[in-house]
Amino acid sequence: MSDTTRFLLGENDIPKFWYNINADSPVAPNPVYNPATKEPVTPDFLSVLFPMDLIMQEISSERYIPIPDEVRDIYKLWRPTPLMRAARLEKALGTPAHIYYKYEGVSPSGSHKSNTAIPQAFYNKIAGTHALTTETGAGQWGSALSMACKFYDLPLEVYMVKVSYNQKPYRRFLMETYGAQVFASPTNLTHAGQAILDQNPNSPGSLGVAISEAVEVAASSSGTKKYALGSVLHHVCLHQSIIGEESLKQMDMANEYPDVVIGCVGGGSNFAGIAFPFLRENLKNGKRTRLLAVEPKAAPSLTKGVFAFDYGDTARMAPIVKMYTLGHDFMPAEIHAGGLRYHGMAPTLSALYDKGLIEAVAVHQKAVFEAALTFSNTEGILPAPESAHAIRAAIDEALEAKKTGEKKVILFNLSGHGHFDLTAYNAYLSNGLEDFDYPDEAIAHIPEHLPGITA
Ligand SMILES: *Cc1c(COP(=O)(O)O)cnc(C)c1O
Repeated sequence: MSDTTRFLLGENDIPKFWYNINADSPVAPNPVYNPATKEPVTPDFLSVLFPMDLIMQEISSERYIPIPDEVRDIYKLWRPTPLMRAARLEKALGTPAHIYYKYEGVSPSGSHKSNTAIPQAFYNKIAGTHALTTETGAGQWGSALSMACKFYDLPLEVYMVKVSYNQKPYRRFLMETYGAQVFASPTNLTHAGQAILDQNPNSPGSLGVAISEAVEVAASSSGTKKYALGSVLHHVCLHQSIIGEESLKQMDMANEYPDVVIGCVGGGSNFAGIAFPFLRENLKNGKRTRLLAVEPKAAPSLTKGVFAFDYGDTARMAPIVKMYTLGHDFMPAEIHAGGLRYHGMAPTLSALYDKGLIEAVAVHQKAVFEAALTFSNTEGILPAPESAHAIRAAIDEALEAKKTGEKKVILFNLSGHGHFDLTAYNAYLSNGLEDFDYPDEAIAHIPEHLPGITA
């Protein structure tokens, strides 16, 4: 243990490889199905949406996949990211636990999402893709991909969930500064969007619908446009593994090793990014770190969802994968301000959770915002509401250690800053937030909303 606060690495310490958990995982990947035919997908089907290099990464069983020099050069703009000891937070909590966090908010877009946006734009560029389409919720993924596309001179269309487009315009403006074209989803530009608008002209949209629109535009472009996703897929989790690899080195500098590693989960990528390299150490080197995923009670896919094959999107155009899901037509409650609203969860993470190699907990949003302020009032950084789910769980672990007197070492991923989320903070401060539990009746009906594949 040292008195150091910031554990910093140099440019040479930026990982040269992405780590693929599938090489070491005791659970084999499940098959992926074509949503139209319900037959196993072929690389042909996937190649309508993704360049071949990313498809190969998606199905690779290689343990380490080299990071292209061009990508590492761009990573230098914000990597390695700092690992911090939260000593002032520990003191405020009066806990004997040591709390560390890995800070991904130093990237230009303010979150971990740039870690995958750059390689996705890179592989599309070298494959000759003319333009990309994507969806975004609050706009973190859209901002990260907008910058990446500008760097590689690729036009980008972003389908942004309408309620965010209207209520959180600043991320939209940021995307536009990087040259992206941003649409409020559902739009009347696609069949998927039109179908939703026919049912409800005032639909606030959802991530599932926005994904359908972006997929449809790419799939009907005769190969000129491809689609990019900022979470859930295996290649995205793979790209995020650099978070955990750097953290391993930095914990070593601190002369400590985490008893528990914590991350928030939307589609699962930032959690996978910090946790999978530590899971490798558990599986191969006899370490026993607990890996804890934290989700909102309003969108509790791991803790309340079913582990089943489901569509990746609302309009049933994206591949069918086996994951913990709330059903592809899940619509989050409008009162829910904290993000992490996707209906499913990364298949790799889902399978590991099913095997008991990963733990999960769901938290209420008021407790999340309370934790966010405890953190910002001691450590200074205002976290993204998503990241604050991880802070809530880290504080709860530290308070538990206070009761038992245990000198537990806690590491969490601070996936992004909250500078574009001030409307949500204002709602919290003016008592405008309510806790919401996704209702049990809705959970009981999930199986009726699934495609019925049991293989
Ligand atoms: C997108 C996002 C998340 C959730 O996505 P994952 O793929 O689960 O990581 C979490 N935190 C921040 C700051 C985000 O932008």
